[in-house]
Amino acid sequence: MRPRVMRQVELLEKVLAYDPTADEDLLNRAYVFSMKAHGAQKRASGDPYFSHPVEVAGILAGMKLDATAIATGLLHDTLEDTVATPEEIQKNFGADVLRLVDGVTKLSRIELQSDRTRQAENFRKLLLAMSTDIRVLLVKLADRLHNMRTLHFIKDPDKRRRIAKETMEIYVPLADRIGMQDLREELEDLAFAELNGDARASIIARLDQLRTEGGSLVDRIVDRLKRTLAESGVEAWVSGREKRPFSIWEKMQRKNIAFEQLSDIMAFRIVVADVATCYHALGVVHQTWPSVPGRFKDYLSTPKQNGYRSLHTTVIGPENKRIEIQIRTNEMHAIADLGVAAHWQYKQNGGSHAPAPEAEARQYRWLRELLEILEQTSDPEEFLEHTKLNMFQDQVFCFSPKGDLIALPRDATVVDFAYAVHSDVGDTAVGAKVNGRVVPLRTVLRNGDQVEILRSKVPAPNPTWLNFVKSGRAKSCINRFIRQQQRGQYHELGKAILVKAFKEHDTAVNDKVLEPVVKVLKLRNADDVFVGVGEGNFTARQVVNIVFPGQKGDEADKAPPLPRPHRQSDHGKAGGIPIRGLIPGMAMHFAGCCHPLPGDRIVGIVTTGKGVTIHTIDCETLEQFAEQPERWIDLAWDPPSDGEKTHGHVGRVNLLINNEPGALSAVTTIIAKHKGNITNLKITNRTTDFFEMFVDIEVRDLKHLTNIIAALRATSAISSVERARS
Ligand code: MN
Repeated sequence: MRPRVMRQVELLEKVLAYDPTADEDLLNRAYVFSMKAHGAQKRASGDPYFSHPVEVAGILAGMKLDATAIATGLLHDTLEDTVATPEEIQKNFGADVLRLVDGVTKLSRIELQSDRTRQAENFRKLLLAMSTDIRVLLVKLADRLHNMRTLHFIKDPDKRRRIAKETMEIYVPLADRIGMQDLREELEDLAFAELNGDARASIIARLDQLRTEGGSLVDRIVDRLKRTLAESGVEAWVSGREKRPFSIWEKMQRKNIAFEQLSDIMAFRIVVADVATCYHALGVVHQTWPSVPGRFKDYLSTPKQNGYRSLHTTVIGPENKRIEIQIRTNEMHAIADLGVAAHWQYKQNGGSHAPAPEAEARQYRWLRELLEILEQTSDPEEFLEHTKLNMFQDQVFCFSPKGDLIALPRDATVVDFAYAVHSDVGDTAVGAKVNGRVVPLRTVLRNGDQVEILRSKVPAPNPTWLNFVKSGRAKSCINRFIRQQQRGQYHELGKAILVKAFKEHDTAVNDKVLEPVVKVLKLRNADDVFVGVGEGNFTARQVVNIVFPGQKGDEADKAPPLPRPHRQSDHGKAGGIPIRGLIPGMAMHFAGCCHPLPGDRIVGIVTTGKGVTIHTIDCETLEQFAEQPERWIDLAWDPPSDGEKTHGHVGRVNLLINNEPGALSAVTTIIAKHKGNITNLKITNRTTDFFEMFVDIEVRDLKHLTNIIAALRATSAISSVERARS
């Protein structure tokens, strides 16, 4: 017989039973809306689809949640599976319900990705991080529970198995994490039935057999416990049950024992009024039956991380049966079963409760904090922090195109993601698509983003990435690349110097010739010799003297620096540059990173064989030379002589321009009007709202460029203008 759909009035009665003030109208409207929206859709069972949201709402009512959460349960599949729109939900049920339904919908969409990822741990964290309201997670868990209860209707065995596995790996630990033990056990057992039906069936058969042989053993032990406690004046509610097949099976696996050897397959609960009575009851139990050493646990004084509190003990009880006993108060009992969901119950009773004594207050501190934050409902992150639910607010989880889930520190950017995939991916990253849209590399990622890295063939990480990356991995990869690149340059330079120096001795430089140098200077190989000379750690003459001892070859040192390779330069002729502090005849060029202009405060960096590179004093590149003061030389611009027209200095300007008609022509017009000459222009990023670009402008001096920048800033189409610094 097919189960019929729970009627509107039944659901309502179920809710009103624990919350007489619940918004009946809201529940009725949500019920009807969902029924109409799902229309003639059918479940795999052949039931109307609508039976599913109603059952989910029923499960939520079982958790004694508020009307908003129950309405969310009724509506949870309408956005994804029907033509209902967010606007309709908002109009009919208000912003709160929409926010929750939307949250559940987001989780469901993310869930679709889960079969492509094997990283259950990260996936659980993602679900937690995305559940900004605890009710979203509770609805999602109820949704999963009903889907598991009806799993056997799905015909495809692979699909059944996948869903069961996902339940075991993701939803069971989640339920445990927020302390919902009943839900956890049921999910676990339903998944177990699918994943290892034979094992489960055999355990159930053994339990049946025990029951036939021994009669109602559980009932007899419950009676005995009740009587014993009553005789000692302890008022208690006692219940007992066989453990779930899955937990029995798990124990058999863990301890590698057969069913016959498994003694404690029964669990008993003693529920009393207060904490003092818990310990009293424990004393009675321990005086009556011998306790099993090592099995006593006091989660009263030290609650579990998920808020669970109880006394646990195992004794050789009535009829010589080994039994596990949990002792707790009424309120702990509610929390132990419902976990976080129990706070709704607590909230309902809260108004009529007398202020709790000191000990009780401490006992429920985590619950109280939860309630306080819930009542303020202002800051969802703070809420998660306090529920202890979310240990993962300091992390963000993103998908690769293949569906791998990658955990990153909070505020991580596209570049961090690229390096987390692989250092090669990071080194060659030139752009990215997030959820299909092209974004800048510094874009901060959000939970659930799908990130695709666009790569170049040549690795070229940019040192400026260090300004925004968040992960240590990205930082160290970028730094390593910069070091390697420098080493490559020094290697080339050192080799050129040594080739020339050895030419004086008619000797070609090669690894063999440099062998004695490697030995004397205690280096690893000839490459180290080249790099060392390039960096200036030792001179060409020192190297030559080791290879040709006894020869006083001063010439090698006096060799003039290598001629600077001829460059097609925008910067004008070095000879005509009015800079003080340069050594006459020394090669010089302007740094490509900071584009110094007349008027800037400047400094020179000497590189053996290459002459002087001129940087602005605030250029970030200079940090690389902080440890080598001997390479710095003080420089200054000569004041310009009157009437001198020295165009030929190029300054770079970064612009952020609104994506609107005429914006680009405004830029060029302004620059032209101020007699600047655009030598290069490139759009570096374009989105629907704006584009980023840089413009190289030929100017007289710093003042000239500053004027142009001021004029650009005054234009409404341009949202920001900065001089490029590196
Ligand atoms: Mn659903």
